Amino acid sequence: MENIMSTREAVLKYISSCSNLELSARTLLDEIEDPCIGMSFAVHCIPHRILQKSGVDIKGILSPSLTEPHGGSDISKINTIAEFIDNGNVVIRGEKVFSTNALHCDQLLVLARTEKGPILALVNRKASGVDVEPMNIGAYKCTGIGRVKYSNAIGRVVAGPGKEAYRLLLSALAESRVLVAAHALGLSRQLLEYITRWSISRGVWQHQAVRHRIASTYVFYTVARSFVKEVAKTIDKQSKIDWSLTSIAKYFALEASMKTVESAVRVLGGYSVSLEAPLHIIAPHIYALTAAEGTQDIQLEIIARSLEKEYGQQY
Ligand SMILES: Cc1cc2nc3c(=O)[nH]c(=O)nc-3n(C[C@H](O)[C@H](O)[C@H](O)COP(=O)(O)OP(=O)(O)OC[C@H]3O[C@@H](n4cnc5c(N)ncnc54)[C@H](O)[C@@H]3O)c2cc1C
Repeated sequence: MENIMSTREAVLKYISSCSNLELSARTLLDEIEDPCIGMSFAVHCIPHRILQKSGVDIKGILSPSLTEPHGGSDISKINTIAEFIDNGNVVIRGEKVFSTNALHCDQLLVLARTEKGPILALVNRKASGVDVEPMNIGAYKCTGIGRVKYSNAIGRVVAGPGKEAYRLLLSALAESRVLVAAHALGLSRQLLEYITRWSISRGVWQHQAVRHRIASTYVFYTVARSFVKEVAKTIDKQSKIDWSLTSIAKYFALEASMKTVESAVRVLGGYSVSLEAPLHIIAPHIYALTAAEGTQDIQLEIIARSLEKEYGQQY
């Protein structure tokens, strides 16, 4: 819990930069080095941007509570139920998993279904009927990632009922993919810097196999980094988000980051398992990001659908 509270304190310093995608991507690429602070910040920005677009006051740290135990890839298949008690409030019943920040946030943004369609509702973490427990996972534990049970918890509706709730959520998730990409590349940079210094000081840099492996990894990292920065800048200027572009950014950044992990394993030799090298910390955090904000398969599906839309009518 101590680690989780220090993550919270650190994230509070950054949260105002969520309002601008380019700024928040830059923060993740260059400033935040701790994986938990990076992820906690990136994920907070999803509900932050939804609330900003809905004209709702943003207070403290937020947790998006979307994924359910039966699967997170298809958010249209939600079992969590909400019933209106008056125009603005609902009673929520259901269970969510992988809610980042859940253990230390101020409010959770819950996706639920009503008789009239999907809604997004803000729920106070300390409200009655909200039960948060830590998840037994090997990465991002100090983001306060949790399983949340809602048993007749009261929520305030901020979007929906209806397609508008999905539209807002899907566009916030699309934007947030750029932040996950930036976070992965921030972690990759630390690993690349480490293996470069290590290879030179150990005297293995003289082997072409080692220095070319590192040089090749830098190529992928550098291209991914400048693409992610460019996409963040472009999205800030767009009124309608190009989902395919943000999926390409996330997909490529994660593939480049996994290449960095693989290079580090090969370059470090037996020292890849050393607890003194950052690999054992950074690798599981990069792997976990392949699922966050939609798996790599889902990114390819989004890209494929956009290709179909563009070229499918011509033949
Ligand atoms: C570090 C981390 C932080 C997270 N933070 C949050 C959070 O704050 N809030 C939140 O709500 N969720 C969060 N998640 C959950 C994340 O969004 C889900 O893990 C993700 O959406 C995938 O869902 P799943 O894990 O249930 O996998 P599933 O949906 O069960 O998928 C399993 C496999 O099937 C494949 N698959 C499924 N459907 C399709 C399809 N239509 N086409 C092709 N392949 C498919 C997937 O690619 C994957 O390989 C987080 C996850 C991680 C790892």
